Amino acid sequence: MKASLMKKLSLGFLIAVLGSIILASFISNYTIEKKFKNYLVDEHKSKVSNIVKIIDDIYSNNKNLSTASTDEIQRYALIQEMYIEIKDLYNNTLYTSGNSHLQHNPMMENMMRGMMHNSSEMNIGKYTEETHPLLVNNQKIGTITIGYFGTSYLSSASVTFINTLNHSFILSAIVALIFGLIISVIISKQLSKPLVKITDTANKMRTGDLDVRANVDANTKEIDELSKSINYLAETLKNQEMLRKRLTSDMAHELRTPLTTLKTHVEAFIDGIWEPTIERFEAFYEEIERLTKMVDNLRNLAKLEQSNLNLNKSKVNLSEQLEKIIDTFKPLYIKENYELTCSITPEIMAIVDNDKFIQIMNNLLSNAHKYLKPNGKVHLTLKKANQNVVIKVIDNGIGIPEKDLPYIFERFYRSDLSRNKNTGGSGIGLTITKAFVEVHGGKIYAHSKINQGTTFIVELPIK
Ligand code: ADP
Repeated sequence: MKASLMKKLSLGFLIAVLGSIILASFISNYTIEKKFKNYLVDEHKSKVSNIVKIIDDIYSNNKNLSTASTDEIQRYALIQEMYIEIKDLYNNTLYTSGNSHLQHNPMMENMMRGMMHNSSEMNIGKYTEETHPLLVNNQKIGTITIGYFGTSYLSSASVTFINTLNHSFILSAIVALIFGLIISVIISKQLSKPLVKITDTANKMRTGDLDVRANVDANTKEIDELSKSINYLAETLKNQEMLRKRLTSDMAHELRTPLTTLKTHVEAFIDGIWEPTIERFEAFYEEIERLTKMVDNLRNLAKLEQSNLNLNKSKVNLSEQLEKIIDTFKPLYIKENYELTCSITPEIMAIVDNDKFIQIMNNLLSNAHKYLKPNGKVHLTLKKANQNVVIKVIDNGIGIPEKDLPYIFERFYRSDLSRNKNTGGSGIGLTITKAFVEVHGGKIYAHSKINQGTTFIVELPIK
């Protein structure tokens, strides 16, 4: 079974919180304990050497122990919780802070425990004795024995500290877990709510409702992008659906017109209403030609869409090539009193498939010509911009309605204006032109104002 976002997030949060707290407590336990131990060992060493020095000093000054001196040593022994014993070179005891060694005397041990400020559950450690020489003017005159319980009893303080620390870790773990849970619930709600909406939208689209849109107010970048993408998808699918419907009706229309003409004329022949003259057969022939051209176009388009277009690229002087193309169009324009002008930057070279380039320009120039009005003018420009060549075909013809502009490169799409003009087009020229431009890695787009004219812009990379 798949887990919900909320479950996953909450679990993730909990694991992260627990993991980090456990890790933090391990690290701090370890470092604190280590630091504490070092500190205690240093402390102890300095205490012992201090006492030895004090006793050395007392002997240096007095040679013999006065009551005041033994009191002082006794005080030290008590304060530092140590057993102190001084012997001369012949092993005679000169001074002892207690009656006996602590480890042999449970009473003393208890007393030591009592002396310690903390409770008896503390680990007072192993009893240890160390012997130091009693030096007077750097000469050994006896020994000082210092007995003490292992430093571990002191480290009980660190144990208490660590215990307190661990308690606070556990407490913060509980608080963090509660907080983590609350936060994960809030965040997962914030995430899942728009996602549910987007899924709903996608499901509605699946059932064919392409007018639906995901209206989510998400402040998460990815979710916002997802909702925009799904809306874009719905819009595109809707347009495609519209184009598909329009394509079918356009095709039916294109096929029906010549077929109806043929049918009525043949019926007229059969009924003997019309004489079958050469002119009438020529009219038939034209209609059949139109039909054949349409079928050819369809086949070409299918080929274009199925196969990867192979390019036969070479270095072409586009400036020269364009001049030539314009020359071939000039007579057609002059015949109808149209003007065809150009401003071409000389010697622009690019690596293109020359045949396809010619076809691109032929399509654009014949369209511009087809959709001109009386006093029509077409101006062509060629220039270089960065790593591209930019070609513009600017006409002052009938223009393209704004609603049709996004679709003119679609298969068989023709604006109603051009349909009315009866130019005999089939709505396929621009589809092919666009495919040729794009296979070169270029772009084609158009600006247009109805009744004022249209500009087609082609950008082709130089290399
Ligand atoms: P067609 O064979 O109909 O010209 P195209 O694919 O070449 O097919 O063009 C598609 C449609 O784009 C045309 O039917 C027309 O509506 C519009 N169009 C293309 N070029 C122009 C232009 N220069 N001026 C006005 N409309 C144009």
